[in-house]
Amino acid sequence: MAKELYNLGEMPPLGVIPKQMHAWLIRPERFGKPTEAFQQEVVNVPPIADDEVLVYVMAAGINYNNVWAGLGIPVNVIGARNKAGEPEDFHIGGSDASGIVYKVGKDVTNVKVGDEVVVHCGQYNRNCEWVKSGGDPMYSPTFRIWGYETNWGSFAQFTKVQAQQCMPKPKHMNWEEAASYVLVGATAWRMLHGWGANAVKKGDVALIWGGAGGLGSMAIQIAKAAGATSVAMVSGEDKFDYCMKLGAKGCINRNKFDHWGMLPHWKDSVGYAKWLKGVRGFGAAIWEVLGEKRAPNLVFEHPGETTIPSSIFVCETGGMVAVCAGTTGYNATVDLRYLWMRQKRLQGSHFANTEQSNQMNELALRGLLDPCMSRVFTYADLPIAHQLMHDNKHPHGNMAVLIGATEFGLGASGKPPVAIPHPTLPKDDVHNTPHPYPMSEPLPSVAQAEAITIADDGSLVRDLMHRGIVSCSPDDTVGTAAKIMINKEIHAVVVMDSAGKAIGVVSQTDMVLARQGRTPEQARAMRAKDIMTPGCATCDAGMLLSDAVSQMTGRRMHRLVVTENDQPVGVISMTDVVRKIIGE
Ligand code: NAP
Repeated sequence: MAKELYNLGEMPPLGVIPKQMHAWLIRPERFGKPTEAFQQEVVNVPPIADDEVLVYVMAAGINYNNVWAGLGIPVNVIGARNKAGEPEDFHIGGSDASGIVYKVGKDVTNVKVGDEVVVHCGQYNRNCEWVKSGGDPMYSPTFRIWGYETNWGSFAQFTKVQAQQCMPKPKHMNWEEAASYVLVGATAWRMLHGWGANAVKKGDVALIWGGAGGLGSMAIQIAKAAGATSVAMVSGEDKFDYCMKLGAKGCINRNKFDHWGMLPHWKDSVGYAKWLKGVRGFGAAIWEVLGEKRAPNLVFEHPGETTIPSSIFVCETGGMVAVCAGTTGYNATVDLRYLWMRQKRLQGSHFANTEQSNQMNELALRGLLDPCMSRVFTYADLPIAHQLMHDNKHPHGNMAVLIGATEFGLGASGKPPVAIPHPTLPKDDVHNTPHPYPMSEPLPSVAQAEAITIADDGSLVRDLMHRGIVSCSPDDTVGTAAKIMINKEIHAVVVMDSAGKAIGVVSQTDMVLARQGRTPEQARAMRAKDIMTPGCATCDAGMLLSDAVSQMTGRRMHRLVVTENDQPVGVISMTDVVRKIIGE
């Protein structure tokens, strides 16, 4: 007879499902840092649907998602599910697992009770029309990340998963190793193999960002298995050996370059030339590693904002930059000339579908994928593992926590089919990656969603603007415009045509850029119309100040011409805004 509840580590007889289970729960009333948000509780084992499976969890992988779930930001995952009709007022996280199948729904054919499995985190409704018609489930509106967007993840004795999530556990891996690689491995697989003609192939060169990180370490191995050569990017020479043992041909220390970040303005010829020098040096470093002048056919991207300009520049003509995150920021800048003239592809990629997850797992089963597990914790230390992540004090590589397994190192029942070197990270390796945002943060969509509350003090542009427009004519010389600017102590002059219409603005920046490559005399002799930024960004005096600020930040501008009844009447500048919001 089944006991009502089994102690942790006391394995129920195969196929016997107790009424209750031990689990780490997050509840809304204790949202906050991981050591407080996660608490041990006992809850009922969930019932399963016809296409679902109950897995007895031996070990679970640790990912950032559940740091965010515990904080309750940017999404209250529990509230979101309650709103969608799920009654549970708690969240059991965990998006990576290894374990044993204990119960299967009546439609399940791919696994049976007793199978040792690993679990990928992609869930979707099998009755979704898109999926039924053969569409990639990753594009289904029902797609969810199990253990973050869904409840009943792997931080419990039993987890409820869809049968399609279950894949054979590599016999040569112990429970914790098997629980650590699927989320990152499958994501890397789709990035490298999921994009048609640009998929990685024998002879290709792949540039891998964060080669010693969770995704990068998988990408190096996946590229190697495809017969491609990879160049790994890292932040220190102490990680070279690690990446090369995984299969990289060579590594580049990103700290040797300083051109990272958003692109300089294309009119900024000096800044652009400097950037070009930096990025060419970076390209030359890639050639040096390769021993030939070749560009990467594929760039494996996730830092985002600081690296995308370089990634696109160094990518081969017709090649692809595949990106799955923006760890350093989301506003990536692209010099479109390189994108269109050299016909490169910037491809977004997110997790992986069932087929791709299994293709990745095939590599692991064949012994060709090291899980790169760097640290494993006991069940009791699950919140500490998340707290380390929260504080950015965790090691690189993939982390796991024991759930049902009673000791470290259990569960391996065979030798790896092939011997590959098992690399170790540099001693005292400390994580220095900026906190990545949750990969499943819901994006604003076209569909009507929750009402958004905007806090605003209601100030209007007219409360702060400077009345009167200082202008010049299109044919005035730059020298004349400069004098006006200096004498009136302003930062820009509006260019008005003979009909009194504002046709452009000459800003200080425009003047400085006009001087580049010219003598002062040549620059002074130019006409305002030649250097002005054409068009005139305007706002109405009755506009909310916050809206005007959004217009300026969105267009990277520092001022707007203010209109009343469509007539220019003044100027509002960032200086005015700073004076009000900080200097007041
Ligand atoms: P990770 O283990 O923290 O590795 C990230 C790597 O990025 C680090 O090893 C670091 O290596 C490098 N890095 C840090 N700052 C950088 C910078 N300014 N410029 C260039 N490289 C930098 O994280 P991960 O597991 O690989 O995940 C990476 C990102 O992908 C995260 O944002 C994660 O949330 C996201 N992700 C997305 C999906 C998806 O399906 N969309 C799935 C998994 C992960 P060095 O310091 O040695 O350069």
